Amino acid sequence: MEKRISVCLTFDFDAISLWLGGFRASSLSAISRGEFGRVGAERLLNLLHERGIRSTWFVPGHSAETFPAIIERLAQNGHEIGHHGYLHTHPKDADDEAAILDRGTAVLERMTGRKPIGFRSPGAGLSFNMVKLLRERGFSYDSSLMADDFSAYYMREGDNPQADGPYQFGKSIDLVEIPFTWGLDDFPAFEYVTSRAGIQQGLSSPSAIYEIWAGDFDYLYERIGNGIYTLTMHPQVIGRGHRMLMLERLIDHFAGHREVTFMSMADAAAEFRREHPLPR
Ligand SMILES: [Zn+2]
Repeated sequence: MEKRISVCLTFDFDAISLWLGGFRASSLSAISRGEFGRVGAERLLNLLHERGIRSTWFVPGHSAETFPAIIERLAQNGHEIGHHGYLHTHPKDADDEAAILDRGTAVLERMTGRKPIGFRSPGAGLSFNMVKLLRERGFSYDSSLMADDFSAYYMREGDNPQADGPYQFGKSIDLVEIPFTWGLDDFPAFEYVTSRAGIQQGLSSPSAIYEIWAGDFDYLYERIGNGIYTLTMHPQVIGRGHRMLMLERLIDHFAGHREVTFMSMADAAAEFRREHPLPR
């Protein structure tokens, strides 16, 4: 098989919504960490522009409305804008899921003139019901699951997660999963957080994370040779100076292989569909 690697650089622009939603923070100090997301986003936009890289940004409706200038620049520069909820929370129930999904879509469509076709669940909390909602609303792909690493796959409906007997897999549906993993995510690696849930140490040295992130890429390139490499980053995290330098080095490493193409997740999902039509 021909060697071919798609690199999807993805950025979750959680900004303030993460601190108000996920962490239910009330201090201005905590909120300001999310506000730093604007600084990080501007640095990333400049870097991506310099390198001619098209990327995917998953944006909560709350962030889009709070930082409209960033959304405008993203759209102008041709980056894909995907759905990442409204506030960065886990929905309470099925009705709440539908309401959040529709509200986030309405915000992004109003601001960019386009409906998002990709979804990433805030905090990787995708539910069985959400898969059905995404299919019903015509989404092309999701990027919240971890059942593979470098291969996209079709999602399923009708799984039976019984514990007293084998897990039962449902039917594949026309919704592509482009998997992500916490190991290729900057948040647990770098972000120091104290919350009701405990302490997340973070604050790794960038060289340690470079070793992990480049190591996964090298395995894909050398041992598998064909697939999608996805990084998940947050402007408020990766946007710090020493981490930006690491990201620049990493992009140089990827770009040093002629079989590598940087692409949006929407394009990667479309390519997967063309090459692997869903069996009827
Ligand atoms: Zn997020």
